[in-house]
Amino acid sequence: MEKTLVLIKPDAFGKNHSGDILKLYEDAGFKIVAAKVMQMTVALAAKHYVEHIGRPYYPALVEFMTSAPLMAVVLSGDNVIKKVRELNGATNPAEAAEGTVRKLFAEDKTHNAVHASDSPDSAAREIPIFFSACEIFD
Ligand code: ADP
Ligand code: MG
Repeated sequence: MEKTLVLIKPDAFGKNHSGDILKLYEDAGFKIVAAKVMQMTVALAAKHYVEHIGRPYYPALVEFMTSAPLMAVVLSGDNVIKKVRELNGATNPAEAAEGTVRKLFAEDKTHNAVHASDSPDSAAREIPIFFSACEIFD
């Protein structure tokens, strides 16, 4: 079954929206096959967001992602990568569709509540950054 990495970012996690967000994914038929609460280090942020190093927003992104705990989750299901991106909504919450996670829980482009892998290659790269094989139950 296809898998994707979701991060419930420090803003949404800190405001106790993890349950609300996980419910949207579960109601869409996806299974939680791994989960942990953790705090990103600068090194982990650089590994996860390697494609964004050097972008103007990168320092603010790392500052935010390392500022407080977050929840890392692996979801499993049919077409889960694309469907979870749709459930999350646009990167900029001002452009996110009604009912999406970012419309409901995000504040702005930096503090945008969630991350989800954007392709099978990204999911395959990102999941092992956060979970070892023995922590995934599918
Ligand atoms: P997504 O998270 O929707 O896949 P990107 O991969 O383009 O978006 O960017 C990764 C993260 O970097 C975004 O979720 C957001 O937190 C931050 N980001 C991207 N673009 C901007 C921007 N223009 N201004 C501020 N933060 C940004
Ligand atoms: Mg992305």
